[in-house]
Amino acid sequence: MNYRKFQADHLFTGFEWLSNDSVLITGADGKIIDIVPAADAGEGIARFSGILSPGFINCHCHLELSHLKGVIPENTGMVDFLVRVIQQRGFDESIIKEAIAQGEDSMLQNGIVAVGDICNTAYTIDQKKRGRLLYHNFIETMGFIESTAMQRFEASRAIYDQFARLYRTPAASNSIVPHAPYSVSAALFQLITRFPGNNLLTIHNQESVAEREFIEKGTGDLHRLYKALNIDISFYKPGSTGSLGAYLSHFLPNQSLILVHNTNTNESDLKYIAQSPAPAGSFGKALHFASLFFCLCPNANAYIGNPLPDIDLLRQYKAALVIGTDSLASNHQLSVLAELQTINRHFPHIAISELLQWATLNGARALQLDDVVGSFEQGKKPGVLVVSEELSTVERLI
Ligand SMILES: [Zn+2]
Repeated sequence: MNYRKFQADHLFTGFEWLSNDSVLITGADGKIIDIVPAADAGEGIARFSGILSPGFINCHCHLELSHLKGVIPENTGMVDFLVRVIQQRGFDESIIKEAIAQGEDSMLQNGIVAVGDICNTAYTIDQKKRGRLLYHNFIETMGFIESTAMQRFEASRAIYDQFARLYRTPAASNSIVPHAPYSVSAALFQLITRFPGNNLLTIHNQESVAEREFIEKGTGDLHRLYKALNIDISFYKPGSTGSLGAYLSHFLPNQSLILVHNTNTNESDLKYIAQSPAPAGSFGKALHFASLFFCLCPNANAYIGNPLPDIDLLRQYKAALVIGTDSLASNHQLSVLAELQTINRHFPHIAISELLQWATLNGARALQLDDVVGSFEQGKKPGVLVVSEELSTVERLI
């Protein structure tokens, strides 16, 4: 058997640092064989400066929006950003598909091995068939008017069925998911959460200040969005349960949920989760930290003009953090490392090992792909990266 042997200044396993004397051994196909002291590793060790790390996991992307790179100006604010994305129709399918291919190429170059990808269309299917990256496809549905729920759900179900045909166990790699708390009716939430096998879910959560105002008070800038869309939401009355409580109760005990953005998630939200009923009960388990992941997309937040999440507060509550790039409509690149750089700049006291864990093992757990990727453990094929110590560059070794 052909082995490959790697050594660098530091080795991060996904869990912890190992001594710089450690040599990572893989098969020719990248499968992890062992980690041994250099003295026991024999000949042919490839040496690098920097950190050996498992491949990165991008927990939130919209690959199908890659053709919008540079199209939408920065700092428009949330509502104008959404209006502009919705207005961007009329691109040729060939342009969309070419941009999808380039977007995937760049993720590969940036050391990403697995992606949680939001899909409103089937445009990414041909690229995904090539099998160069692992994907969990989150087929996104939205509709705030109760009476359209079934029609909206069936449209998403038809896209889900196209993706499902690519996989032997479709539910392991595909879900139908709600877009955001302000764009999904209770009836549509019911259809989503009760769809068979739909256990891994994600939602855009607390992305803007306008969202919190809309959910909690029923007022604010989001009304401008519905006006622009010509949708009458005069029926809408906010609940009394707060921004998270308004919708988390829709989810079922066996479901896990990736909350994306969390830019104004506050202490009362986190207390709400911490104080929700114990996991043993049938109600409320999905609200618990055990089944929630908080995805950070700081470069997209900055692009749109939203605040950055209070990452220290999330850490205080031991929230499981993961990283996403969002789309090229709201980001200059699809790079997990570029997101880590931004977090490192704003939160320099957070250890590099903690950031790397969010980008590797935590992401793999969130996408339920941790039996294959996320850490250097025997039998996995997580990819092998060398990352510079100051997080400025990444090179893919496998
Ligand atoms: Zn998104």
